[in-house]
Amino acid sequence: MNLILLGAPGAGKGTQAEIICEKAGIPAISTGNIIRAALKNGTEMGLKAKSYMDSGKLVPDDVVIGIIKERLAEEDCKNGFILDGFPRTIPQAEALDAMGIVIDCVLSIEVPDEKIVARMSGRRVCSACGASYHVEYKKPKTDGVCDLCGGALSIRKDDEPETVLDRLHVYHEQTEPLKDYYEKTGKLRTAIGQEEVADTTKLVLEALGL
Ligand code: AMP
Repeated sequence: MNLILLGAPGAGKGTQAEIICEKAGIPAISTGNIIRAALKNGTEMGLKAKSYMDSGKLVPDDVVIGIIKERLAEEDCKNGFILDGFPRTIPQAEALDAMGIVIDCVLSIEVPDEKIVARMSGRRVCSACGASYHVEYKKPKTDGVCDLCGGALSIRKDDEPETVLDRLHVYHEQTEPLKDYYEKTGKLRTAIGQEEVADTTKLVLEALGL
């Protein structure tokens, strides 16, 4: 299954992508995580992306399209993949089509803006592997430590309240039109994001028929 997860920043795409990845045995691919890893490693692409990312703007299409093209060519994507955070613009969706990639399902996780802003203040990410946690809704087993790799949890720079508002604006303006784009292909499904991760997962798996 080739799957796209749509939704505002903080809607729970990353968390649900990890769960689907375990259940369906297909990789979850987050362009945000790939860019953050490049930044950490000091690569040219990472440095180029930094200013966009820090201010809540989208990294230019050609950069992320290049990233995704390379990643989808890897062996582990042969039986399917979950895209978390790509495409984020119409040109990115068109580029995916132009690569000849057939998408089976596009799932939009819907959460109102007010809830997103409240949620983001509690989000923590692993600075080593990028796994995502929440101080209330998805607590790590040990405070401040990643369950998966033991890395230190921290607050993402772009999760600061003002940047979150900019990211929401960018989402509505540039990413939300993708719902129409995929609605027209008959592949769009919707799940309403709930307070508890498990409740959202139930709706997500139902919507995907998993
Ligand atoms: P995320 O971790 O998905 O919230 O992404 C964090 C940031 O990475 C975004 O605010 C953008 O600056 C950048 N980014 C991630 N994916 C994309 C994409 N598909 N297109 C453009 N920028 C992206």
